[in-house]
Amino acid sequence: MKYLHINSPLIESLSIGNNLRGNVWLKVDAMQPCGSFKARGIGYACQKYVENGAKALVSSSGGNAGLAVAYSGRRLNIPVTVVVPKTTKKRAIDLIGAEGASVIVTGEDWSEAHAHATELSKEGAKYIHPFDDPKIWQGHASVIDEILNAGLKPDVVVLSVGGGGLLCGVVEGLKRNGCGDVPILAVETIGADSFSTACLAKEHIGIDKITSIATSLGAKKIAKRAFQLIDEHEIVNHTVTDKEAIDGCFRLLDDHRIMVEPACGASLAAVANGCDFLREKLNIVVIVCGGVGVTMNQLEEWRQHVT
Ligand SMILES: *Cc1c(COP(=O)(O)O)cnc(C)c1O
Repeated sequence: MKYLHINSPLIESLSIGNNLRGNVWLKVDAMQPCGSFKARGIGYACQKYVENGAKALVSSSGGNAGLAVAYSGRRLNIPVTVVVPKTTKKRAIDLIGAEGASVIVTGEDWSEAHAHATELSKEGAKYIHPFDDPKIWQGHASVIDEILNAGLKPDVVVLSVGGGGLLCGVVEGLKRNGCGDVPILAVETIGADSFSTACLAKEHIGIDKITSIATSLGAKKIAKRAFQLIDEHEIVNHTVTDKEAIDGCFRLLDDHRIMVEPACGASLAAVANGCDFLREKLNIVVIVCGGVGVTMNQLEEWRQHVT
């Protein structure tokens, strides 16, 4: 087994961004096993840690990161424990459990669950961070290798930012392929805008509270490396509302019959709404990062209640 991720589809969208001059390409990582791009970086990191002797893995994410660790552990034949707080939805626990991982539900919030996961890692299990690890970035970089291998040279890459792991990986992928000049549009929802906040302050600060429904973008502070990249690479930050992100999900669903989380819908919204920075770009590549924290009913409910 070479990698735990797949070479995902790269398709042109004639509809999303039809208000823009350029061509819009979707790199559909929603099709990855475990439903998001995290199969790349987390898959790669888990693989490397197991090669280096790890006998068990532990995560404290009840979202796509925890699911990616559970998936990787199953594929690598190694036990995984995912510690999640009591606020975690049953569906998320079931999905992680279905990958064969043990799920421990403990603590009132993430920091309490995380503290327990840290204890477990002291007993020998390798802790897998959701975004802040060079091995994860190295794995995420494969998304750029695939796009370039397909013969497409982007004029801009559009992606969503939570803690900035995907961002670090995409920059690494561009650099290692001699495309360090390709700019990035980094999209967040208002209320999960830790990257924009750091950009604006020109300081590695975070936000106090996550108020966006795009929980997969909900890192209060971005990775230090992501902050450093602001000075090293052309990265333009952009925010959309939760409502726009939800509309972005519906746009992808209606136009391409693919369902994703609002964390991903945010990037699609930036394109669909014709964000200024994209206006003169010829080949616009959107990383359709995916996410399993969504159902048709949930999307409908958001559409009705989020204004
Ligand atoms: C993890 C995740 C993100 C954010 O990725 P970071 O590496 O934390 O910036 C965005 N969208 C989805 C669907 C995710 O699972």
